[in-house]
Amino acid sequence: MRIGILGVHQECNTFSPTPTTLEDFHIRLGRDVLDHWRGTRVEIGGFIDVLNRPDIEIVPILSGWAITKGRILEPEFARMKQMLAESLRAALPLDGMLIALHGAMCSEGADDAEGALLEVVRGVTGPSLPICLTLDLHANVTERMCRLADAVIGYRTYPHIDLYETATTAGEMLLRILAGDPRPRTFLQKVPMIVPGENMQTAYGPFAEVWSYAKSLQTAEIDSFSIFGVQAWMDIAEMGGAVLAVTKREEAKARQFCRMVAKLFWDLRKDFEVHFPSPEAAIKEAVETPGQPVVLSESSDSPTAGSPGDSSEMLRALLQAAPGVPATLWLRDEAAVERVEQSQAGAKLRVSLGGGYDKVNRRPLTVDAEVLRVSDGDFVMTGSQYTGMKTSMGRAAVLQVGAVTVLVSKLPAINIDPQLFRSQGIEPNEKKIVVVKSCNAFRNEYMPFAAKILMVDTPGVSTPNIRSIPFRHVSRPIYPLDEIEFNP
Ligand SMILES: [Zn+2]
Repeated sequence: MRIGILGVHQECNTFSPTPTTLEDFHIRLGRDVLDHWRGTRVEIGGFIDVLNRPDIEIVPILSGWAITKGRILEPEFARMKQMLAESLRAALPLDGMLIALHGAMCSEGADDAEGALLEVVRGVTGPSLPICLTLDLHANVTERMCRLADAVIGYRTYPHIDLYETATTAGEMLLRILAGDPRPRTFLQKVPMIVPGENMQTAYGPFAEVWSYAKSLQTAEIDSFSIFGVQAWMDIAEMGGAVLAVTKREEAKARQFCRMVAKLFWDLRKDFEVHFPSPEAAIKEAVETPGQPVVLSESSDSPTAGSPGDSSEMLRALLQAAPGVPATLWLRDEAAVERVEQSQAGAKLRVSLGGGYDKVNRRPLTVDAEVLRVSDGDFVMTGSQYTGMKTSMGRAAVLQVGAVTVLVSKLPAINIDPQLFRSQGIEPNEKKIVVVKSCNAFRNEYMPFAAKILMVDTPGVSTPNIRSIPFRHVSRPIYPLDEIEFNP
């Protein structure tokens, strides 16, 4: 059997000031896909392992992974679709396909960019090819995605530690279809609500309750179910959470299951709300906390939620409220790196940090800094998420500003793994305060050694204050923008 594998990931933030380009995806084709992803604990790594059988030929089609930014520019998305179509045509004939997408990707002119990619796939393969699709838990699932794939399966964890397992589950389902099982269908129930990711973790809290209720309801007729708390920063019409169920022939039961789970998700909507302290209040609490490091997260500037990463608000607050307290943080400033990258370690200079991209929420901060090192900014994720994935923050510099060790890079950086700092010679355990920029995913990696974790409230394009987000296109009414009744 010849089975095609395809993976394209980006979570779009339509409020981001920076558009996404094709270059951001680092597109790989053919054998390059296998060479790059084999052995990783992400979806394509899982596809490769589950298909590792003597009777199966893995046919790599295309892979791409981009950090969160604004919509993909239209000509670039058109080029991506063309590359996908050409690679897929050259790969025919196929017996089945495994596809890993994020589910919250938008291009200019396509709110449902994954649906558009699946249209390209079906346009080449026709409707009869069995396709199993995986999505991120923050996907904005559409009817079109569910119609174009046989089975849709989402992550079951947040922080996401089951990318690999989601992929192998999808792979096993495809192999059962190819062995003669009836083709399943996926039923979708949207839930008209947007909740902050900061309180959407699956191990405890309201979302854990929804998941455990769904597990208690699952019967043999439901082959798989998924629950999606959509990421909040998409200003598009077909926006909202979702519950879906995959079944071979029990449509009524699948629909009933989705409705019941959606009802509990909806009933708990207010429990997801969050209220965070100001930077000054959080720093005061951190300093008073015994032990170290205390981890402060400025999620409103999270690069994995589409913020540019250019906030220097926490640096400003640390220098003012806690001078002399050893701390570290990352921020993005291309101009600052360009200014210092020719310097030797030990050089001292005055430099402006932050405020380069988000002109609404950010202000630059001028500081006196000592250059500690300059590097290419490449690192490999070693924690429990995206394990083994190679990533780059672009050229990077480590600067000492007062008691704060500042990591500055040219590109946005994934802030969930302490390897971000360790790869640049900064040890978080040696700091009293570590600032990260992540909604929730950092918890898995920092919880084992953090003395305390606090979220911080600053404005930004990935703010958890949903009511403050300037939505214009989402279909109304929707919670929490409107007080509505919903009975699935
Ligand atoms: Zn996610």
